[in-house]
Amino acid sequence: MNMRLVFVLVGTTHSGNIGAAARAIKNMGFSEMRLVDCCSHLTKDALARASGADGVLTEAKRFDTLDAAVADCQSVIGTSARDRHLAVPVMACRDVALEIATDANSSTSTTCVALVFGRERSGLSNEEMDRCTRLLRIPCNPEFSSLNLGAAVQVVAYECAQALQSVSLNPSSEREAIASGEAMLHFYDHLQRIMLATGFLDPDNPKHLMRRIKRYFERNRPYESEMNILRGILSATEKPFPPKKDGG
Ligand code: SAH
Repeated sequence: MNMRLVFVLVGTTHSGNIGAAARAIKNMGFSEMRLVDCCSHLTKDALARASGADGVLTEAKRFDTLDAAVADCQSVIGTSARDRHLAVPVMACRDVALEIATDANSSTSTTCVALVFGRERSGLSNEEMDRCTRLLRIPCNPEFSSLNLGAAVQVVAYECAQALQSVSLNPSSEREAIASGEAMLHFYDHLQRIMLATGFLDPDNPKHLMRRIKRYFERNRPYESEMNILRGILSATEKPFPPKKDGG
């Protein structure tokens, strides 16, 4: 299966949590961790909590921004304990894991999927969530839904490992590929350009329009062939209208 899963921690303030995340990642058979604006990750505390997963820690790459950290990722999946109004669609952890595994199984090229974890206190910002193509929630007690960061990484890594294993044991028959996260981003850019050009989108009063559109399309991603039709329609609107055929 051609897929890389990358665990991205954003704004972590306790190095012990980075160590715990490294351990969880290695326990489940993954290895790649990226750190965005995090505290130092090679502390005594981090190494102690990594408890042998030192390689994941020492190889972790540091970035200043989330954009830079996920630049090579086709899918960017944010994790959140809370349901946020108007953000990208929120799905249960198991369903997202299955989707990742199924996509990886049907894809012919190597896809890189980022799983993004937020700050211990405040989670991910709205802006960071907007950068995501999906949001994932670990279903739990609605009155006590915030897991420790290391525990959240553990559950997500476990579900992904399980899903990847079950999909590789039961490969689906030929199935049309769903448009990639990257294709979706190009589509949103294209659509936004046209909405601005036609005056449908007022940049001074955007009213969450792009977020709503994104949520709509991410709820049911089109197949690649359907995406080609959508892009074709958008491109056609950018051309001057041909003279009408009058049938005579
Ligand atoms: N108070 C924060 C929670 C931060 S917990 C908030 O309400 O957003 C730190 C991180 O662990 C979160 O940003 C998220 O990445 C992950 N996390 C914790 N509980 C989670 C849950 N139930 N589902 C998904 N991710 C969770």
